[in-house]
Amino acid sequence: MDKVNVLGVNFDKKTFNQFQNEFIGRMNNHESTFVVTANPEIVMAANENPEFMKVLQEDTDYITADGIGIVKAAKILGEPLPERVTGYDLFLWLMKVANERGLRVFLIGAKPEVIHAVQEKIARNYSNINLVGAEDGYFTEDLDLVARRIERTQPDLVFAALGFPKQEYLLSILRKNATPALMMGVGGSFDVFSG
Ligand code: UDP
Repeated sequence: MDKVNVLGVNFDKKTFNQFQNEFIGRMNNHESTFVVTANPEIVMAANENPEFMKVLQEDTDYITADGIGIVKAAKILGEPLPERVTGYDLFLWLMKVANERGLRVFLIGAKPEVIHAVQEKIARNYSNINLVGAEDGYFTEDLDLVARRIERTQPDLVFAALGFPKQEYLLSILRKNATPALMMGVGGSFDVFSG
């Protein structure tokens, strides 16, 4: 088995390096790819929210163990996961790849001043990224409308920092539409990145 089921959530038994190789392959093929980096809070929330659990079970392509609690739980279940793979580490690596390759990146989430600081940091340190969208996460429109706006920019990478489950709900719309991007919910990563 290449997955480990922890309270209904199927985690991929992959190292950081293995995820990197898979993601590069899928990005090269422009495959629609939805990644969730799930911590124990996400697993608990999904167990209390059937709609969120359905998204995790049916719409995602990869789920990483974003927290040592998940790695420990898998070990207790007798199906160890190789290591913890955090959303922030994947985000930083994907931003580096995006800069090296001049990829089209759409960012959505965090407070207006935070996303502004993120934009400035990208202009300074990741100037080869083609930033096709940078919006704060306090919109009032339907997620469907937001998803359509994201799709129109033809991004290669979409990062949503809206907190769970909202970020996963938004990205699941894109994934169901087979939007040819790699998309990932990144929680509070923009706040950290901008600081
Ligand atoms: N956030 C947002 N829109 C919302 C709610 C939250 O953009 O409607 C942002 C918030 O500003 C923060 C990020 O989502 O940057 C993650 O929030 P939180 O720390 O609550 O989530 P977690 O990291 O626990 O998933």
